[in-house]
Amino acid sequence: MTVIDYDLEFLEDGRHIELISIGIVCDDGREYYAVNSDADWDRVKKHHWLMHNVWPHLPLRGHKTGLVTVGSKTEVRLTEPGVIDTRNTQVKPRWVIANEVRDFIQAAPYVELWANYGAYDHVALAQLWGRMIDLPEGVPMFTCDIQQERARLGLRWDELPQQESGEHNALADARHNQTVRRWLAEQEARTS
Ligand SMILES: [Mg+2]
Repeated sequence: MTVIDYDLEFLEDGRHIELISIGIVCDDGREYYAVNSDADWDRVKKHHWLMHNVWPHLPLRGHKTGLVTVGSKTEVRLTEPGVIDTRNTQVKPRWVIANEVRDFIQAAPYVELWANYGAYDHVALAQLWGRMIDLPEGVPMFTCDIQQERARLGLRWDELPQQESGEHNALADARHNQTVRRWLAEQEARTS
């Protein structure tokens, strides 16, 4: 069995979940990151939370950063959002991402998928290929959830290893998921 940890950033409105970016790490050492050039960037730009938390991690051009005072803290923030940098090879059409992610998962035998609070991530991942019935061979029909395993082991969420940087960068989040998932496995091995 091979474990694949992943994370998606997405735009969701209560009806649809649209891929923005995807990060995947595999226990065999491979990694994958892509940004969906087909995302509705006009809607993303109207979404305050995404612009604040996700957008700064995406490949951008024409953007500007500056020191901004927030409460008692001064932080480096985007002062001009710029646009998605389509010259960056990580920015790809959705159908290309679907093919590459399929190949990434199929390259490993007996895959187990893991994510954190992963219900929406699983749906958005599976919809890369269309309907549930269109799921490519070798892609699991469910994603194991770090939070479910945490609860099963009787731990609180704030007892888990904390992410030091890059939160809401899909690849940084996927790497952190791998760290936490392995840490949970160690806790279980210690107690059983
Ligand atoms: Mg994330």
